[in-house]
Amino acid sequence: MFRFLRIGFLLAVSLLVFAGGAGSQQPKVSTPVKPEQMSPAVPPEAGTRTAAAAPAAPEFDVKAAVDAYLAKVPPDKRAKSDAYFEGGYWLILWDFLYGAAIMLLLLATGASARMRDFAERIAPWKPAQTALYFVQFFLAVSVLGFPLTYYEGFVREHKYGLATQTFGPWMRDQVVGLAVVLVLGGLLAMALFGVVRRLGKSWWVWGAGVTTVFFAFAILTGPVYIAPLFNTYKKLEDQKVKETILSMARANGIPVTEVYEMDASRQTTRVSANVSGFLGTERITLNDNLLKRCSPAEIQAVMGHEMGHYVLNHAYKGLVFFGVIIVAGFAFLNWGLNWSLARWGQRWGIRGITDVAVIPLAAVIFSIFGFVFTPINNTITRTMEYEADLYGLNASQQPDGEAEVDLKLGEYRKLDPGPIEEVLFFDHPSGRTRITAAMRWKKEHLKAGDR
Ligand SMILES: [Zn+2]
Repeated sequence: MFRFLRIGFLLAVSLLVFAGGAGSQQPKVSTPVKPEQMSPAVPPEAGTRTAAAAPAAPEFDVKAAVDAYLAKVPPDKRAKSDAYFEGGYWLILWDFLYGAAIMLLLLATGASARMRDFAERIAPWKPAQTALYFVQFFLAVSVLGFPLTYYEGFVREHKYGLATQTFGPWMRDQVVGLAVVLVLGGLLAMALFGVVRRLGKSWWVWGAGVTTVFFAFAILTGPVYIAPLFNTYKKLEDQKVKETILSMARANGIPVTEVYEMDASRQTTRVSANVSGFLGTERITLNDNLLKRCSPAEIQAVMGHEMGHYVLNHAYKGLVFFGVIIVAGFAFLNWGLNWSLARWGQRWGIRGITDVAVIPLAAVIFSIFGFVFTPINNTITRTMEYEADLYGLNASQQPDGEAEVDLKLGEYRKLDPGPIEEVLFFDHPSGRTRITAAMRWKKEHLKAGDR
């Protein structure tokens, strides 16, 4: 699910959602239950939850411990991951500008109006015209946007050693992802224009509701029905790792009986895991990078974090936040459409807000909203991620495992940013923030041990 969302601004713009901020850092998509960590190939009981291992002096110095962890990353590696992540800041801007340029091109050349005329000539009824327009629009945007998609998703990922795919398989994933978005986006467009045509002035309130329900459905079912289009999922064979995880799940009230493994190494070197699903589709999934690269303590720290997302209902809370933001976005969209149609509607051959040819304009307006809202979206997500960290520390009792994993995540996320930088650009806490939480937990539990 998150993968295909990452395909970036194209999809976002097409779906009229999330615009702007899309392309950047990570599959930000997933707002809700999103993974992040790793797991070991190592055995069982050995690394099991035996709280804060290394006995430290009574006056354990949190800051010194954090600095010591951060110092484990060699300067050249640090410089590389900083450059990768900071490049993502600029991509937010380039995605926004490039996407807006494509949309304005479609409007100003009259291409959008011609695609609508073509759809009206061929299709007999309105919903079919909307679908037919959307197919043309989506193909045009995908082709025009390909250079940036290619740079961002392939060239840049290889340049920083994060990608494992050659061009052929990468392109295959792109095509599958576009097909998924074409279908979902087409359905959403048909629903939204149905709402606009029937409900007149109050369309934007109902449109926001339809979009939120649509996304709820996609986010909750995506891990089960869409993710397998990109990766192979199988039951985790390592019984020791599996039993440790299931034990943690039982202790945390999570109703799963099976753990899955997926071949993320097909696309990337990143480590991650997640707990997803609802109403009987709950499942824990570890990616193979996590299993290969992490110790049992690290895997437990990761699973504690993911279980935190689940137990704290982050998927549902994320949707509530999303719903509120979407309502604001649609209000802005309604205002922006009326304002700009009054000025340029006639010149662009757009008849009004109920005309499908308005889609590129709606995409531009929504992407402005998304661009401005990027720091707010990031802060909502980052706050939930931090909650999951704290939950995970308590659940796994592996502060050092957590710190080690945080360093691995630092391979593609700046480890030690400034405070404003973290607020603006980070959708997960930085390495320093996370390791500080882990070392603080360790210090307090060492103290408790003394008593
Ligand atoms: Zn998370």
